[in-house]
Amino acid sequence: MSMFDKNISQEKLKSLEFAEAAREQEWKSPSYALNLFHGNADFTLLHPFPEQSAEEKKAGDEYIEKIEKFLKENLDPDEVDRTGLIPDKVYKGLAALGAFALKVPKEYGGMGFSQYNYNRIMHLVSSYCGSTAVLLSAHQSIGVPQPLKLFGTPEQKSKYLPMFAQGAISAFALTEPSVGSDPRKMLTTAVPTEDGKHYILNGEKLWCTNGLIADVIAVMALTPSKTVRGKEVKQITAFIVETKSPGFEKIHRCSFMGLHGIQIGLIRFNNVMVPRENIILGEGEGLKLALMTLNTGRLTLPAASAGIAKWCLYVARVWSGKRQQWGSPIGEHEAVALKLSYIASHTFALDAVTWLTSAMADDKHRDIRIEAAVAKYFSTEVSWKIADETLQIRGGSGYESSSSLRQRGVDYWPVERVLRDVRINRIIEGTSEIMHLFIAREALDPHLSKIKPLLSGRTPILVKAIAAVKMAAYYAFWYPGLWGGFIVPSELQGLPPALQGHMMYVRSASRRLARVTFHNMVIYQQKLESKQSILNRIVDIGTELFAMSAACSYAAMLHKQGQANAVDLASVFCNESRKRVEATFKDGGCCNKDKASLRIARKVLSKEFEWMENEIIK
Ligand SMILES: Cc1cc2nc3c(=O)[nH]c(=O)nc-3n(C[C@H](O)[C@H](O)[C@H](O)COP(=O)(O)OP(=O)(O)OC[C@H]3O[C@@H](n4cnc5c(N)ncnc54)[C@H](O)[C@@H]3O)c2cc1C
Repeated sequence: MSMFDKNISQEKLKSLEFAEAAREQEWKSPSYALNLFHGNADFTLLHPFPEQSAEEKKAGDEYIEKIEKFLKENLDPDEVDRTGLIPDKVYKGLAALGAFALKVPKEYGGMGFSQYNYNRIMHLVSSYCGSTAVLLSAHQSIGVPQPLKLFGTPEQKSKYLPMFAQGAISAFALTEPSVGSDPRKMLTTAVPTEDGKHYILNGEKLWCTNGLIADVIAVMALTPSKTVRGKEVKQITAFIVETKSPGFEKIHRCSFMGLHGIQIGLIRFNNVMVPRENIILGEGEGLKLALMTLNTGRLTLPAASAGIAKWCLYVARVWSGKRQQWGSPIGEHEAVALKLSYIASHTFALDAVTWLTSAMADDKHRDIRIEAAVAKYFSTEVSWKIADETLQIRGGSGYESSSSLRQRGVDYWPVERVLRDVRINRIIEGTSEIMHLFIAREALDPHLSKIKPLLSGRTPILVKAIAAVKMAAYYAFWYPGLWGGFIVPSELQGLPPALQGHMMYVRSASRRLARVTFHNMVIYQQKLESKQSILNRIVDIGTELFAMSAACSYAAMLHKQGQANAVDLASVFCNESRKRVEATFKDGGCCNKDKASLRIARKVLSKEFEWMENEIIK
């Protein structure tokens, strides 16, 4: 138990139990990413790299051409940043293009695009205007169309989905002023009326993207608790709420460091009557619905990150070749050259992760929970670094606003705006820290589920004995299998030699990761769940191995198609990734250093270091 747990253990336990109840427990199919944590890098699950069918690609190509032309002719992203408004003609034009119904099935008037094509479109829009990308994405990655498509009744679908084809906008409202990552403390309530036909909604929702312009909002609210085995269990339920309903109030438009064009704010529900038939999925299923919607929803972020990274690559390339300092183009100085290499190789990995997970999401037999979380975490962290390095390469011009550069008559790439816009991606749709916890929970699950009956005081002795025998038999077989594995398996044999070498590394590092995880399980048992410093390292290594695997599979496909130098990009990415993996493995044993750092954190909180906050204006 970590040092902070002494005070908050009961609270934390309740939050964990609450989140646990909403977790999907059934794995429908093998997950490559999850297997990596268990020492089984089964490359056949992502190789050959999945490709779009010719028909699907054509539909995507045609739409992308249209929306690109529309955006270039009608939208000035710098003006959106300056004025804080996306012009009305852009909303109307996007609606006419069906951009608010990209994934809505054709039978409801939508475009009927796959997740892959949808992500291609979001990738393009994100490379041009962050605010417009978030308008479209909050509406249909997490807003009403997505949960309705997944869980809506036929009546709900035929009532609401056609509205989006006409340009209606939606939003998703989970966060509240005191409810961020932990939804258990939710205060918004939905109380059934006496006749049971309606619910009366009361409460406030914060940072609801599109909330100020939405026609309908997917709202999470507390419905009456249930008693399960003598214990009161809170119920969160998802409702479709029409914003024209009496009692819906817009309180405040929030403004942020970036994304100046988004209409996001604090909204309030004052006795809003919502019909019972507007419940999505079922009473008490709201948190599960939110988590399941986010599984696919957060896949927009890798696509957006890849689009932004490619734009950065373009700016960094042109500027590094053109800007002369100390007698040569800056791109020829090694420090800048290494940044260029980082940007190019990591953009390649972002592309690989994006298209791999997009295709996986369209394959209904796949379980993409871990893949989506890993892709979200990896891509938002990497794209932030890429944007930062691009600004560094641009030097002072990177820090200057695009409109100021434009007024001076020089290249006016809006790098500072992009950096401001991209930062939020590490926070929304699950912060990087929460992604760590989510991935770690799933990675540990096979071990925890075996060990739990042994630790519980409520388990009868006989059941404990059977669980112990089963566990011993499982580990006696599993653990020795984590050693060895030096023969190149058949699925790797056709790969270019460089990629084969990297994939052999992934195989052995995955086994080492499983061993390290197991050793930590033996040492800490169930307490490992709260050892975030160890878990974070485990997740970081798994994430790197997943990105390496995606990059190798993607490069193998491009190589086959004649793009031989894709192998160079994958190889440089893998070299960098391997360095990070080795450093993290090395760090893994340094728990004493963690302890010292955690002691400092406790002292910071108890104001022991307040003396350092001197001679500043507070
Ligand atoms: C621009 C923007 C758009 C948004 N859009 C929407 C939207 O459309 N709908 C919606 O419902 N919400 C939206 N949000 C809210 C967003 O999802 C939350 O900001 C996010 O979930 C984090 O919650 P929080 O900001 O309250 O941070 P907190 O939960 O208070 O966390 C603060 C910090 O502590 C860390 N932390 C918290 N708990 C743990 C833990 N157990 N272990 C380790 N670290 C932890 C977090 O990672 C974070 O770094 C939006 C926010 C912004 C800024």
